[in-house]
Amino acid sequence: MDYNNAFANAVSEIKDEGRYRVFTNIRRYKGNFPHARYYTDAGVKDIIVWCSNDYLGQGQNDEVLDAMREALDDVGSGAGGTRNISGNTYYHTMLERELADLHQKEAALLFTSGYVSNDATLATIARILPGCIIFSDESNHASMIEGIRRSGCEKRIFRHNDVAHLRSLLEKAPQSAPKLIAFESVYSMDGDMSPMKEFLDLADEFNAMTYLDEVHAVGMYGEHGAGVAERDGLMHRFDIIEGTMGKAFGVMGGYITANATIIDAIRSLAPGFIFTTSLAPVLAAGVLKSVQILKSEKGRELRAQHQRQAQYLKDAFRNAGLPIMETSTSHIVPLFVGDAVKCKQLSDLLLEEYDIYVQPINFPTVPRGTERLRFTPTPLHTDELCDELVRKVSEAFGRLKIAKAA
Ligand SMILES: *Cc1c(COP(=O)(O)O)cnc(C)c1O
Repeated sequence: MDYNNAFANAVSEIKDEGRYRVFTNIRRYKGNFPHARYYTDAGVKDIIVWCSNDYLGQGQNDEVLDAMREALDDVGSGAGGTRNISGNTYYHTMLERELADLHQKEAALLFTSGYVSNDATLATIARILPGCIIFSDESNHASMIEGIRRSGCEKRIFRHNDVAHLRSLLEKAPQSAPKLIAFESVYSMDGDMSPMKEFLDLADEFNAMTYLDEVHAVGMYGEHGAGVAERDGLMHRFDIIEGTMGKAFGVMGGYITANATIIDAIRSLAPGFIFTTSLAPVLAAGVLKSVQILKSEKGRELRAQHQRQAQYLKDAFRNAGLPIMETSTSHIVPLFVGDAVKCKQLSDLLLEEYDIYVQPINFPTVPRGTERLRFTPTPLHTDELCDELVRKVSEAFGRLKIAKAA
């Protein structure tokens, strides 16, 4: 066996499919996001970041950074252990209380990332609910898919956001089997939202539990930034709500919130929670402050400005005749390209010649033939930055002869 050859072949297959990924080496300017430095072999230049999930700029919020500095000076760098063995700190406890309150649940549980929270929680459900069938939206995030796969549960995949299809799958399942319906609030590649109320009604009718991934909505929707379920007055109807602390909250980590019994069970059974060093207290302290800010009036202002800039950018692209994907009813601004090679070329051209950083979104993240650029304007992407972006993208579309009609 030529081991090295096997690895090289694995990579060349990915290259042949046009989905080999190259990291972009950037260095943000704290206090001046979305401006950043871009490092290449040829040197360094300034760019505008258009694809960050630091949706509200909390990653450079001075109050958040001060809270992190204080925690650093207070207790040092790492947690030094798992939650069960010396790694449970004041900061973790405070943050879990804050997150439970945010979602109006009895309890919360921290994980080292949103990915781990989905994977560990969903994989553990089966151990608690023998014979469980998980009903999962076909567009669910890889972390949910992985958790469901590892749970070993029977699963039924329903067509994206398709209420009738979910109903027909529920009708076919044995009435006595435990059931869990898992979906997201905002789907981050199309920017669309799930028919939450209809799914919850089905869950009631078929006596199923519900699991909601609010990763692309926490901090950004609802009176206190708890997500779309808060905005729509549906939060109390979900059994488990999952979120990340790495996107709008601007730091790192993931969590679930639920009633105390569910949290106690996951806490006691999920290996991905138990057997890993807990989040650095510094991170927990930063998130705690960030959640508090986004719960407040300041948060409501940021959310309003965020929605405004997203709408401004959508309108500006549309007015320039560029193919905005009309699926988006959220802050996400996807622009249709429909070809993997062109999509990559477009992104490269924008970065190299126009100082615009937006990552191409290709298969397998989205289906082949629906390749796109995905822009994530923040409150810090001013009208001027939006106008300049649209002018540059329009020119780049022309140079690469990419069709403008969607
Ligand atoms: C990013 C993402 C996650 C994972 O969250 P991280 O904190 O980045 O690990 C989970 N679900 C969805 C829908 C995501 O987009």
